[in-house]
Amino acid sequence: MTINLETPKKFRVLQEQAHQVATEVLRPISRKYDQAEHAYPKELDMLAALIDGMNESGSSSGAGASGVRQSRSTETGNRNGSNMSSAIGVMETCWGDVGLVLSMPRQGLGNAAIAAVANDEQLERYEGRWAAMAITEPEAGSDSAAIRTTAEVDGDEYVLNGEKIYVTAGERAELVVVWASLDRSQGRAAIKSFVVERSNPGLILDRLEHKLGIRASDTAAFRLEDCRVPKDDLLGSPDIDTKKSFAGAMQTFDNTRPLVAAMAVGVARASLEFTQERLAEADVEVDYDRPAHSQSAAAATLLELEADWEAAQLLMMEAAWMADNSKPNSLHASMAKAKAGRACVDISLRCIELCGSVGYDESELLEKWARDAKILDIFEGTQQIQQLIIARLLLGKTSAQLR
Ligand SMILES: Cc1cc2nc3c(=O)[nH]c(=O)nc-3n(C[C@H](O)[C@H](O)[C@H](O)COP(=O)(O)OP(=O)(O)OC[C@H]3O[C@@H](n4cnc5c(N)ncnc54)[C@H](O)[C@@H]3O)c2cc1C
Repeated sequence: MTINLETPKKFRVLQEQAHQVATEVLRPISRKYDQAEHAYPKELDMLAALIDGMNESGSSSGAGASGVRQSRSTETGNRNGSNMSSAIGVMETCWGDVGLVLSMPRQGLGNAAIAAVANDEQLERYEGRWAAMAITEPEAGSDSAAIRTTAEVDGDEYVLNGEKIYVTAGERAELVVVWASLDRSQGRAAIKSFVVERSNPGLILDRLEHKLGIRASDTAAFRLEDCRVPKDDLLGSPDIDTKKSFAGAMQTFDNTRPLVAAMAVGVARASLEFTQERLAEADVEVDYDRPAHSQSAAAATLLELEADWEAAQLLMMEAAWMADNSKPNSLHASMAKAKAGRACVDISLRCIELCGSVGYDESELLEKWARDAKILDIFEGTQQIQQLIIARLLLGKTSAQLR
């Protein structure tokens, strides 16, 4: 028996529009920007303007990352809000091309961070601006509490010093949300996020990376040298509250992990559909009414992969739904990210197996999707880190007790 979680009725138009964009705009330029790494996908400017228009007209409550904000509503009942619409929009567009979606103006992961933790005044001030997210450093990847970038108060400003690597959309975005410590002796509680203008002379672009996948997306490395940021650009509270620990900054992940899961679900769906078509051409019949073990090996494999995909999709939808319904979703956000990240890599590689040489060949996009998939199991917390978080939350252990 399969469970089908339907797209909420009010988001069906959004889903259709996003799918159309993926088919008509993203797929046709997908290979071009995979090959022209670091070239700016100018076609996206028009598309981003269209998304802005959809958001302004209210026909969508958030087609991209900027729409995610944990609901603070005390209303009871079932809500499908901007977390769900963003997840659906991202899933459908990533069916088109995940690298291009990561390059979509004004829909960066930094926008999700702003949406998740900014106060109302900041939300208004940063509205309509494109923000990247800079947490990772040469000595701090999975262990984000180990970051060394510092922020010292000087009059009405903070002065930031440090190094940030692997910043998605770092070159192209207008703002970079930088994690830095107000006081390294106070540990993780002192880590805050700061919104830095990309044009700030203290934010120095060192290089752009060459990568396995998502080549349409720029990945930047920065140095922060006496980078002065107005005090109003610290997101959330400037107080160091050792009881709440890292909560403010980490809250971002409750909103962004379901989105990364949605990216993975979209890429995996693309691989599955492509494979299903090739199998049909080869006269492999997939019968949904008969047990998999009684069918051909190829059909049974496809059924297994589809079941895995569906489990990932359900977890992703649940995590986004919880965010829209004021339910703490850290556990579910990590479960969705872990499941979808792994499923996406596994599904795309096994689809290559099923398709044979046509799957490996650059004449089709499947080989590209398999390369693009891997990052979705790495950024916003690797597979291993999600499992660690899930174990901590289920067992009631702290990060010091289970590491
Ligand atoms: C293309 C790309 C884009 C990125 N975009 C961004 C971005 O926009 N912003 C940003 O801040 N960062 C970004 N990152 C960085 C990404 O989030 C990190 O690469 C990731 O968090 C892992 O950190 P690391 O690479 O330092 O690996 P490490 O932390 O060194 O981990 C190496 C391996 O060890 C495992 N491991 C680590 N600790 C444990 C543990 N306690 N238990 C079990 N296993 C463990 C990891 O799972 C991993 O497999 C990006 C990275 C890439 C490649």
